[in-house]
Amino acid sequence: MKVIVVGSSHGGYETVRGILAAQPDTEIQWYEKGDFLSFLSCGMQLYLEGAVKDVNSVSYATPEGMQAQGVHVFVNSEISKVDPASHSVHVIDHATGDERDESYDKLVLSVGAVPFDLPVPGHDLENIYAMRGRDWAIKLKAKTVDPSVKNVVVIGSGYIGIEAAEVFAKAGMHVTVIDLLPRLLSLYLDQEFTDVLTKTMADHGIYAAVGQGIKAYEGVDGYVTKVITDQGEYPADLVVTAAGIRPATGFLKDVVDLDDHGLIKINDHLQTSDKDIYAVGDATLVPFAPTGKDNRIALATNARRQGRIAAKNLLGEDVPMPAVSGSSALSVFDYHFASTGVKEGTADKLGVKSASVLVTDTIRPKFVSEAAGNTKVWFKLTFDPSDGRVLGAQIMSKYDVTANINAISVAVQAKLTVDDLAYTDFFFQPGFDRPWNIINVAAQKAAATLK
Ligand code: FAD
Repeated sequence: MKVIVVGSSHGGYETVRGILAAQPDTEIQWYEKGDFLSFLSCGMQLYLEGAVKDVNSVSYATPEGMQAQGVHVFVNSEISKVDPASHSVHVIDHATGDERDESYDKLVLSVGAVPFDLPVPGHDLENIYAMRGRDWAIKLKAKTVDPSVKNVVVIGSGYIGIEAAEVFAKAGMHVTVIDLLPRLLSLYLDQEFTDVLTKTMADHGIYAAVGQGIKAYEGVDGYVTKVITDQGEYPADLVVTAAGIRPATGFLKDVVDLDDHGLIKINDHLQTSDKDIYAVGDATLVPFAPTGKDNRIALATNARRQGRIAAKNLLGEDVPMPAVSGSSALSVFDYHFASTGVKEGTADKLGVKSASVLVTDTIRPKFVSEAAGNTKVWFKLTFDPSDGRVLGAQIMSKYDVTANINAISVAVQAKLTVDDLAYTDFFFQPGFDRPWNIINVAAQKAAATLK
């Protein structure tokens, strides 16, 4: 069997790995239109802050390593057309200018997404950057040490925008984060958490300009100097846009079914409207466990799961995609937070009735001093008020307790209730936590509200 995989980021890489693991003699052709195989944007902040020195190491695969495993790797090679009727794709080799057709038995599309370019006046000025992929990583890195950059404006306060803001604040620049929504990180955390983080960011030179829409960028001699919103003007030597993404699916119109946003429609086996064409990653929706409906959650974790399951299905297994909870984590200066599933702030948009309890505590017993590592933790558990089903949770502390959120993700996927979690056995050791894990404490508090 000949399989063509398009895109070399998380979804494409995991598909290739899954096929190699199950049937290594499969003929695999792996295409990437960029000049570098498998750059992982997730590692970008580590590179920009200097924790990772070599931009080329932010990758899981090299062409040589994959070729040694029998994979035919093509970089600089764009798939510009797909013809399902003849089971073929059109390839443009951007290095040589050559073009050719290639046939496939199965095709996997992990074409991902590109940063959304806000269509406002001045959007084509110089020094308006995005934060995705290796090329932007290299350009942004140069700006972190550019003495002419004093003011940085970040558009969008999702986790990518906050990563960008932290990078440039740590590099000594004054940073403004502009968002249309009323709070930073509001799709990830409720207000009890974002109030603390917003103050921390302000203490580190990051100013939140929230609840504001971008009207225009202004510049001098073709270079951006100012961002204008409906409420103010912000000086900018550099703008980093992180205001969402658009699926890279223009070439798939009239090939497979797309939704109104250009996302590829797939079934629970990752097949598109053409049964021999599979799609995974940021250009698709994923089944969301708390609601049972498909949702747009652009995370590497989802692309990886989809890639592995697409590989199984195209090789003849019958494996449906498990629902995901949308778990993510981030550090913001001294704080570490993670969240999963539904939050109080996202419940309405998801059409979910929810209730929440917040527990603030110290991570260890009171007799353990702050100097010995005892510090405050915030934990919020969200559940269905009609039956107590766990829908999601958020956690934050200066100590890294984010792994608790993985337990909640399991609870969400397994449809456990707050009663189930109230007395679940979690370990206790005063060097780590308290006799009742904070999940138990919150679930007991939640269960009491249902009596
Ligand atoms: P993409 O990563 O978008 O890659 C698609 C690839 O396909 C690209 O290399 C593109 O050049 C190529 N391609 C597209 N069209 C064609 C074509 N026609 N022919 C050939 N090649 C093509 N997620 C997490 O879970 N955890 C994190 O910590 C995290 N951090 C992130 C940090 C940043 C700064 C960013 C930007 C994202 C982060 N993500 C994180 C999200 C994660 O990177 C994405 O969800 C993931 O990369 C999606 O993978 P994908 O395979 O769908 O597509």
